[in-house]
Amino acid sequence: MVGPLPSSHIITRHTVIHRELYPDIYWKRKQLPLYPRPPNYDADSGPAIPKRIARLYELANNLWWSWHEDGRQVFRSLDYAQWRASGHNPVKQLREMSPERLETAGRDPSFLELYDSVLMKFDAELSSQDTWFTQTNPGLPGSIAYFSAEFAIHNSLPIYAGGLGVLAGDICKEASDLGLPLAAVGFMYPQGYFRQRISAEGWQEEVYEQLSFTGAPISPCPWPQGCGPLVSVRLAGREIFLSVWLVRIGRVNLYLLDTNVEANAQADRSLSARLYTPDPDERLRQIIVLGIGGVRALRLLGISPSVWHGNEDHTAFMMLERLREEMVKGTPFRRAIDTVRGSTIFTTHTPVAAGHNIFPVGLMERYSDNLWESLGIAKEDFLQLGQHDGLSPDRFSLAALALRLAARSNAVSQLHGRVTRKIWHVLWPRRKEDDVPITHVTNGVHMPTWQAPEFQGLCQKYLGKGYLDKQDDPEFWRCIVDIPDEEFWQLRQLLKTRLIRTVQERARQRWVRDQLPSQQVPAMGTLLDPYALTIAFARRFTEYKRPELILSDVERLKKILTNPLRPVQIIFAGKSHPADYLSKRLINRVYVLAMDRSLQGRIAFVEDYDMHFSRELVRGVDLWLNTPRRLQEACGTSGMKASMNGVVNLSVRDGWWDEGYNGANGWAIDGAAASRPEDEDRADAGAIYSLLENQITPLYYDRDRMGIPHGWIKVAKEAIRSISPAFSASRMLKEYTQRLYFPQGKE
Ligand SMILES: *Cc1c(COP(=O)(O)O)cnc(C)c1O
Repeated sequence: MVGPLPSSHIITRHTVIHRELYPDIYWKRKQLPLYPRPPNYDADSGPAIPKRIARLYELANNLWWSWHEDGRQVFRSLDYAQWRASGHNPVKQLREMSPERLETAGRDPSFLELYDSVLMKFDAELSSQDTWFTQTNPGLPGSIAYFSAEFAIHNSLPIYAGGLGVLAGDICKEASDLGLPLAAVGFMYPQGYFRQRISAEGWQEEVYEQLSFTGAPISPCPWPQGCGPLVSVRLAGREIFLSVWLVRIGRVNLYLLDTNVEANAQADRSLSARLYTPDPDERLRQIIVLGIGGVRALRLLGISPSVWHGNEDHTAFMMLERLREEMVKGTPFRRAIDTVRGSTIFTTHTPVAAGHNIFPVGLMERYSDNLWESLGIAKEDFLQLGQHDGLSPDRFSLAALALRLAARSNAVSQLHGRVTRKIWHVLWPRRKEDDVPITHVTNGVHMPTWQAPEFQGLCQKYLGKGYLDKQDDPEFWRCIVDIPDEEFWQLRQLLKTRLIRTVQERARQRWVRDQLPSQQVPAMGTLLDPYALTIAFARRFTEYKRPELILSDVERLKKILTNPLRPVQIIFAGKSHPADYLSKRLINRVYVLAMDRSLQGRIAFVEDYDMHFSRELVRGVDLWLNTPRRLQEACGTSGMKASMNGVVNLSVRDGWWDEGYNGANGWAIDGAAASRPEDEDRADAGAIYSLLENQITPLYYDRDRMGIPHGWIKVAKEAIRSISPAFSASRMLKEYTQRLYFPQGKE
């Protein structure tokens, strides 16, 4: 049973489908199959819910609860064991709960009080007409479509691989908080990204799990009859049909396209099964379906955005489809390009030219279904949109295409802006490099998601109740020094203890369930010590991020870690791309050291880094380590999450840290600039060791009689003060809105 949909979400009329735009698709719709209920979606499974608390399903099906502590509390207090067993997934939890427990909850006054107050808040937030957006843009009718290949919103929806998805998820949540009229479009990957296990020899193993759609916070997109028409896209001469799933993220709707429908050939049905397939052929087909199918889905839903934002070059076909729409309307080619450009924003995250999506022209020809014909232009003119000097003429660059079709483009940090203008100077050869029209909007993170609830409590106590509304105001954060050091430290210790307990509980479960060999047990973190200075290195494992840098001189490191008076420990976590053997070797290197007895269990590798564990890690450690090879990290966001929890950064001055570091809020690894990577590695590793030996460890262990490290806390507070406002998603999204979506005077 699914709770009733709020009436505002039901689309009763298809207002904006223009017959002439889609001669081949929409007006065949009557003959098109309607989507049958997806095979494993059974709306009537699960226990009946007492009337008094009937809106629990509705609450569970809107991920709003994931960033509201009292929302989480509703499900936690409903049944703590089930809450944990479900992996903090209320949709699954509700389906598995006993009717008796629900009956009891429906009569329990203290539960009902919580339930009522949360629903009141939920309704008020979702229907409020008085938001930042309406206050600052009164009367602005525009809305935004946001396209991304991955979204990290909550662990119950594993359709993300890393930072790019986290950014997209944080943007959706912040858009809801700020009242931005934003609709997001992505892919439903039933197998998502893989789950990681490490073998006894220290090698990554990938496990793909089929997501149970009934246990995930998604529902078939509401159409008039509960199920709707399939969206269709032509690909290599065949029609592919897509169904659309809806994910509610507060006020924001995320529409996920799914190719697993009966009307499709078997090979097409599995097209959207997994994220980031290594096969270029399959990847291009996904990209085409995302862009073209996404635009068509929005049109069918009656949504007409005035601004279209493409997150990374996977979204480039969204621009081409809109170009086609213009051409069908009869707009001349040049004017059509201008129209599309004028309403398109493109964000690039790639700091190296080779990192972009570049496809052989042959593949483009095979799969784009002679797109140039429906654009009414010559094939050569079409191919030119994705070509540039320096690129082999048999290649097509989606980033070049996107930059040409977006009037406003941006990189994701100040430094990345410079790097990006340099890479793309080739598209504007007559301009000076500084004048290449690509700006930057530095990434930020969604504070209510990443800051521990206890830390939010502390901020509320000393900054005032409405502190989240003013989170991007630097003045406001000055009061952070008012928090007594004792109270601050007590909370830091609490968060660290909780983290270590989680790590140990995971290891225990693995050991019991899978009969792990004993040498793996300490490698998983069972010997971690809550009093030791704790460092985290956690992110995608890939060469340029240099996870092994801190291990480059094992003897020197061993002295630092096993110092009996000032012990230090490191927690590693992260996945390698399944097809990236070199990165898997990096994991192996770390894991083998973690199993080495002489390191006394002071290095741990925690399996299956995901959003859930990331939340605990950025809250629980003392020091956040980041060691990208300089100029290769576009921005990086995990260090921002850590800062907001009073965790201190030790990072190479790259990406966001180049603008975030102020000399007093953490440490910068400034190994001498070197032309050869080996020299850079050596210099940076040396810098890390000497900072740890001479500054970081001594400061951490410099305690007063009560055991409080006042010097350390000063750095941590300075990090919170200087980093929270500048690197909050609130600052970021306001900047997107004011500078890129609706720049004043230009709309
Ligand atoms: C924040 C986050 C990332 C991004 O980390 P970077 O520092 O940008 O590399 C990756 N994965 C998960 C699960 C995260 O939460």
